[in-house]
Amino acid sequence: MKIVFVTPELAPVSKVGGLADIAASLPRALKRLGHRVYVIVPRYATGTGVESVGPVATGIELELEMDGARRTARLSRARLSGVTTYFVESDDYFEGRAIYGESGRDYDDNPFRFAFFSRAALAATEALGLAPDIIHVNDWQTSLLPVYQRLEDRASRMPVVLTVHNLAYQGIFPRELLPRLGLPDALFHIDGLEFYGRLNFLKGGLVSAERLTTVSPSYAQEIQRSELGAGLEGVLRARADRLTGIVNGIEPNDWDPGKDPALTSRFASTRLSGKAAGKIELQKELGLTLSPRTPLLAAIGRLDPQKGLELVLEAVPALVAEERAQLVVLGSGREEFLDAFRPLVARYPKAISVNRGFQEALGRRIYAGADLFLMPSRYEPCGLGQMIALRYGTLPVVRATGGLADTIRDLDEDPDRGNGFSFEAFDASALLATLRRALRHYENEKLWTRWVRRAMREDSSWKSSAGRYLDVYEQAIHDLD
Ligand code: ADP
Repeated sequence: MKIVFVTPELAPVSKVGGLADIAASLPRALKRLGHRVYVIVPRYATGTGVESVGPVATGIELELEMDGARRTARLSRARLSGVTTYFVESDDYFEGRAIYGESGRDYDDNPFRFAFFSRAALAATEALGLAPDIIHVNDWQTSLLPVYQRLEDRASRMPVVLTVHNLAYQGIFPRELLPRLGLPDALFHIDGLEFYGRLNFLKGGLVSAERLTTVSPSYAQEIQRSELGAGLEGVLRARADRLTGIVNGIEPNDWDPGKDPALTSRFASTRLSGKAAGKIELQKELGLTLSPRTPLLAAIGRLDPQKGLELVLEAVPALVAEERAQLVVLGSGREEFLDAFRPLVARYPKAISVNRGFQEALGRRIYAGADLFLMPSRYEPCGLGQMIALRYGTLPVVRATGGLADTIRDLDEDPDRGNGFSFEAFDASALLATLRRALRHYENEKLWTRWVRRAMREDSSWKSSAGRYLDVYEQAIHDLD
């Protein structure tokens, strides 16, 4: 099959969240299964490492109308991990600019930037003669692609699959933008792009793509209900027969404690001594008390209310006060979220370490050196952190929601197949009770080692999920036949 994968983010050159990792790894997995895959992504500012992948000009320039002017998109090409990747370059919208904004503020022209990108990706598919069997778009930033395609007068439409990575981000803008985006008024109605009097990019994709997916079966159900439907639950329910939940994978080679260059002490499920050494090295690096048998709890992630970090803040100090645990936090984004930890760090400087910024290598050393990985998310479409933690033998403690519910099986409920600990209620006492449960088991070193080994052997690769995407592609093709 020939697949064009259109994405606003692509690791490692332009990464904000998990979508970037998926855009890098799913195409690779599809290719490994014998399919032809092309990725299309914007080329943002220099300085993000894009030069290092050495894109070369294709010589193809597309002239597209956007926001009242004709604008040029230039296409360049590179191979990233064996996948042909086309960069859309634009002096108006991407050159010298960050992905979504700067200093915590989104750019005002984001609707035009991503509408332009969607149009350019569609036109590029044509200009490059790719003739794909399927176009796979992702999130609101590329959701207008199927809308634009339907507006074109073309003999045969290319089937489109839209994946929702996080329904909380929809791309909602004033309706007045409609003509400036080249969209007719006729599309502004309740079954089209209208959403409470405003324009909703994601909704446009949800109603016009042939097939919809989201990143876990549980989340696929949850977003059809009002609590997590973010106002789109009705639209999703109406298309429930077209919606599939597919759990993300991780790239086993990118996340391998046996050869991770960020680690000094490497390890595998059959030789765990490196994990113990890594814990001591991490304690040293973070200024914590060097203590091999004190459980080290870790939380890594975007600082967003979604991630439930306040439960960690409320639950963990009791364990630290009892000298039953140490805690390391690594967070980026809204760093004011970390300020609440200040008094605790001042009180327990040798047991709590709070780290700011996106620090890839430190993140890896934390996955490797910790004993328990905390993800008490309010909601979690899929989550990658818990899968990475498993690979590094760090047992996840999660709130059973979305992808966390689909990937983590509680060890007390199912000692033979379990791989972590989970709880239901979004409150600190539920997290604390679960942590106490886990820590009791931690005292049984033999049992714990067996669990760590089992966690590390778990297959979180893309193989089976990539196969599920292929099924959805087939269905989308069939829908158009
Ligand atoms: P989301 O996509 O909602 O941000 P995921 O769990 O799906 O959450 O993916 C987050 C990815 O980003 C994981 O690989 C995680 O390790 C990494 N990550 C998040 N914040 C940081 C940080 N501050 N430093 C290093 N890595 C981070």
